[in-house]
Amino acid sequence: MFQRPSEPDINTDYLIIGAGVAGINLAIKLSSIGKEVWLLGSPYESQLAKAGVLQNTNLPEGTVGLKYIEEQIKLAKEKGVKHKSSLVEKISIGDSFLVETRRQKFYPKYIIIASGAKQKRMNFPGEVDFFHKGISDCSICDFPLYGDRIVGVLGNHEYTSRAANFLIDKTRGVHLFWYKNNDKPELDDRIELYHIDSIEAIGGDTISSVRVNTSDGIREVELEGLFVEGKPYPSSEFLEGVVELDDAYVVIDDDFRTSISNIYALGDVTGKTSNYTEVMDAVDRLFLKLITKK
Ligand SMILES: Cc1cc2nc3c(=O)[nH]c(=O)nc-3n(C[C@H](O)[C@H](O)[C@H](O)COP(=O)(O)OP(=O)(O)OC[C@H]3O[C@@H](n4cnc5c(N)ncnc54)[C@H](O)[C@@H]3O)c2cc1C
Repeated sequence: MFQRPSEPDINTDYLIIGAGVAGINLAIKLSSIGKEVWLLGSPYESQLAKAGVLQNTNLPEGTVGLKYIEEQIKLAKEKGVKHKSSLVEKISIGDSFLVETRRQKFYPKYIIIASGAKQKRMNFPGEVDFFHKGISDCSICDFPLYGDRIVGVLGNHEYTSRAANFLIDKTRGVHLFWYKNNDKPELDDRIELYHIDSIEAIGGDTISSVRVNTSDGIREVELEGLFVEGKPYPSSEFLEGVVELDDAYVVIDDDFRTSISNIYALGDVTGKTSNYTEVMDAVDRLFLKLITKK
């Protein structure tokens, strides 16, 4: 099979891992004061890109996450940030840092981890078999495929109920499977709510129903799509054995320092933020720390 050749090694001052709201905005700030910055990661994989219309931010009302992220990455490049969508696979720590993507090696002086969080598999029967065959983990990306269908939404987080409320006007009907959570989410009246302890996806080539265990017993509910929308989980697999993690979150001190000198972390991968406003506050504070660092 044809393999694309490796790309030249890169030496840089700052390497920011993650092109979400944290990574992009910190890159813009550092670059604006003349620092040499490389930014790795796909803006389209960031949480904000999948969030739809943003809520509770100081951005203009009606701002769509994807549009905002596209504008910010464009601004970053205008400010001189070098960007690649590649994923970091490995970090080695010797006399200097070596950060590797599949085809390139980077030798940064400082590493900033901003790899955020992503949807995690919920490990129920049928989840893997029907993934992309009726099961999706992004309602905002995939809802156009389900316009004339009855769908389910599965999860136990605020984002789960938001996804259900979003889908009720885009699909023929929504069942919300509220997973191992006794609270009552705020829902549009048209959504049918099930408190469930377990779920199994059933079908042939594609999903056709789910079997759920509720307090009223086992029920089978027909549907043609199931959106799995739980709490996002930190993207830190590539950091195992590199910096200290706690339940997969990167451990940082009040100055955003990780357990390794000159490696910093911010944003949702640290578990210290979970929305735009908190991330932007962390960006401002880390930027100040970096530029006043002796
Ligand atoms: C469905 C949904 C709706 C939301 N709605 C709102 C809202 O309305 N208002 C609000 O304030 N907040 C909202 N949030 C929360 C908000 O989006 C997040 O708090 C914020 O975007 C986190 O930003 P981040 O940069 O830390 O991480 P992320 O957005 O997760 O970005 C992480 C980046 O790191 C990259 N990455 C991961 N691993 C690697 C690797 N190995 N190498 C290179 N790059 C890597 C990813 O591709 C991505 O580019 C929402 C979140 C979700 C999931």
